[in-house]
Amino acid sequence: MTKFEALGLQESLLNAVSDMGFETPSEVQEKAIPILLEGETDLVALAQTGTGKTAAFGFPLIQKIHKESRTTQGLILSPTRELCLQITNEMQLYSKYEKSIHTVAIYGGASITDQARQIKRGAQIIVATPGRMKDMIGRGLVDISKIDYCVLDEADEMLNMGFYEDIKDILSNTPKEKSTWLFSATMPKEVAQIAKKFMHYPQEITVGTKNSGVDTVQHEYYVVGGRDRYPALKRLADANPDIFSVVFCRTKRDTQKVAEKLIEDGYNAGALHGDLSQNQRDLVMNAFRKKQIQMLVATDVAARGIDVDDVTHVINYQLPDEIETYTHRSGRTGRAGKSGVSMVIITRSEMRKINAIEKKIKQQFISKKIPTGMEICEIQLYHLASKIKNTEINKDVENYLPAIYDVLQGIDREELIKKMVSVEFTRFSNYYNKAKDLNSSEFGEKRKKGKDQNGAFSTNGSIRYFINIGERDGYDWMSLKDFLRGTVGLDKEDVYKVDVKESFSFFNTDSDVSEKVLSTFTDLKVDGRFVNVEVSNNPGGGRGNRGSKDKGRRKDRGRGKKRDRAQGQATYSGKRRSKKRKSDFF
Ligand code: ADP
Ligand code: MG
Repeated sequence: MTKFEALGLQESLLNAVSDMGFETPSEVQEKAIPILLEGETDLVALAQTGTGKTAAFGFPLIQKIHKESRTTQGLILSPTRELCLQITNEMQLYSKYEKSIHTVAIYGGASITDQARQIKRGAQIIVATPGRMKDMIGRGLVDISKIDYCVLDEADEMLNMGFYEDIKDILSNTPKEKSTWLFSATMPKEVAQIAKKFMHYPQEITVGTKNSGVDTVQHEYYVVGGRDRYPALKRLADANPDIFSVVFCRTKRDTQKVAEKLIEDGYNAGALHGDLSQNQRDLVMNAFRKKQIQMLVATDVAARGIDVDDVTHVINYQLPDEIETYTHRSGRTGRAGKSGVSMVIITRSEMRKINAIEKKIKQQFISKKIPTGMEICEIQLYHLASKIKNTEINKDVENYLPAIYDVLQGIDREELIKKMVSVEFTRFSNYYNKAKDLNSSEFGEKRKKGKDQNGAFSTNGSIRYFINIGERDGYDWMSLKDFLRGTVGLDKEDVYKVDVKESFSFFNTDSDVSEKVLSTFTDLKVDGRFVNVEVSNNPGGGRGNRGSKDKGRRKDRGRGKKRDRAQGQATYSGKRRSKKRKSDFF
């Protein structure tokens, strides 16, 4: 018996589960599904974003629907059009083997008559945004007077967005004796009130700690001068060549401005805010989903409901006014079991906000420094080297080879490599040559007490290393830390400042264990491949001027499509480069 079977799911759902490749139920699914299947009850379920809440209510709902009847029996309310479509899509996947169950989506910005027509054909389940739902009820286009189940999904976000009155209105059109299932990432007062007012003795389940951020997210802050926010943002992007991020600004104007500047500077960026038409927003979101956009600059309202699973970084260009909003922001990364980083760019005067957020999320921030120009050059070089190594050879270059050999005649391998790498390096070092230190001076130090274990600022006696394994070998910052502790035999606090890139990583240790680290990796093979560790040029460490000696075969565990951090990163001429993929080497 599989774990899903043990929850009491019927065969058609189990088949759909296996088609989707779900192997084990998530915690919220494990807790909610048996309760919801067993009897009629109200339920409040608190679980972070990305924990699989849709299936937690979706599976039981589908199983409980009387499929022989065409009456609308289930209503799912969700805050945004994107979520609404996503839930509908998931529900259709779940009910793949229940052909007579129909789920219809109702949301603003699309034809109301089309939606009404679909409802008329018979929709046992309706997924709706509150605004459009209320509208359709008002026009008599939908009948929810006989529903048995009402799901309030992302209840906290719906209330954040000011849907309280709409929800109240909608619920007044539903029968008293129905079950209400409320799902939410957090439990602010307003949600508790809804539960109290509209639900009867709800059972409660909580996954993780209430109100806390997901612990797959590492929180970092960078203290800069007020005018250095934008250059700091650029450096953070440059230091993470494979970044796939949401950048949050406070106002629509800033959002637009930052996005425009990034695009001008050659990054793959896009803006998402309320002044754009629905059509423009769709275009941006589609490009983001396809990873054509690596930096999505967004307002909080517009970013609600962004449900993209592999966002690597959330960047708080400015902190939000409400602490609660920070949890929504950082919840956009570290989803679906992956790890993520939430970065905050702040000025000194905002430091107390960090303390307040730490209390709220019950997690500590790591104080980090904006990388220097040289660090970025180093990262970009290693990135380039591994990119060259992993580039698939384009057959069409064959034709040009004789001429190219001719041009490059007499240059030996070593020199060629040096020259090739210099092309990129010179571009970066020209740009960053005179770049100043953006870190607001001596600052983090003040806060340092007790935070040393994070490696925050322990510059003296700390060594930074380069290691030739990264994301494509299946590591993230958590598992790499574990790997290093285990392999070298270090304590929990000994490894810090772990930065995992696509095919290589950096980390720090105190200098007293460095011998142990380096000697462990003199001849260490993992999965038949040499794992190589070298002291990096980055601060905190001594000097080591050799590049990556990647001796072994790189075992590609295929973390999916490689993101081409486009052209963007290296174009500092102020000119805009084409967004098309193109090899940097030919
Ligand atoms: P939430 O609503 O809690 O934010 P979702 O329901 O959107 O989370 O699920 C997040 C992602 O995890 C989705 O891509 C979903 O398909 C996937 N997922 C859900 N349950 C499982 C599971 N049991 N095993 C693997 N993946 C799952
Ligand atoms: Mg959800």
